[in-house]
Amino acid sequence: MSIEVISLSKQFGTFTALHDVSLQVHSGELLALLGPSGSGKTTLLRVIAGLETADSGQVLFHGEDATDQHVRDRQVGFVFQHYALFRNMTIFENVAFGLNVRPKKFRPSKEEIHDRVMKLLHLVQLDWLADRYPHQLSGGQRQRIALARALAVEPKVLLLDEPFGALDAKVRKELRSWLRRLHDDMHITSVFVTHDQEEALEVADRVVVMNEGRIEQIGTPDEVYEQPASPFVYEFLGNVN
Ligand code: ADP
Repeated sequence: MSIEVISLSKQFGTFTALHDVSLQVHSGELLALLGPSGSGKTTLLRVIAGLETADSGQVLFHGEDATDQHVRDRQVGFVFQHYALFRNMTIFENVAFGLNVRPKKFRPSKEEIHDRVMKLLHLVQLDWLADRYPHQLSGGQRQRIALARALAVEPKVLLLDEPFGALDAKVRKELRSWLRRLHDDMHITSVFVTHDQEEALEVADRVVVMNEGRIEQIGTPDEVYEQPASPFVYEFLGNVN
């Protein structure tokens, strides 16, 4: 599913969080939104998800205006920085959540839910933890479960807000390859927010570099790294070494 963002602007009071932002996410692409804190990455992701409305502009999903549709209707999966797993539910119940809350006529049967959840737990190699509770898992395991939960509703688009921000460096590195693998296995279009240059350059097909609510550059990791479009991009990526 392709995503087209056209001239999005968003104010918070007198502060402009997004200033006439346009970009295209190709179907099947893994795109990183990269930039310093406060540059508008999360706001852009939330507007794409429909969790926030823009003051002006449009978001198209596969060429169709998605601005007024409810998040669930858009087949979007969302992963938050702090996992946001439900404490009082088992891992199985957490992953099944999005399916169990569907209106009856759209809800898969109990058997189908069971099969789908176990398949996803197998995919993130945590099926042996199905009956445990979130507090019994490590941070990295919890985030893998959060990924599985987002994928359970078979989204066409996966949106991730600093998904590994809460984890230590070693686990972050490991989870990068998980994200890449799940993205490829599920044939989805993914957009993830990060302030970590190395993470964006290593995992993404293309990188969007943001600064003060505007896009400074969009390109492949090689392009933005080797041909920075502005002194800002050069300096921001320069911190990698
Ligand atoms: P990033 O994800 O790049 O750190 P954000 O999109 O979260 O940036 O935020 C961009 C700016 O908008 C920040 O300066 C932030 O303080 C402001 N902002 C974000 N959400 C709100 C809100 N709900 N109310 C007021 N200001 C906000």
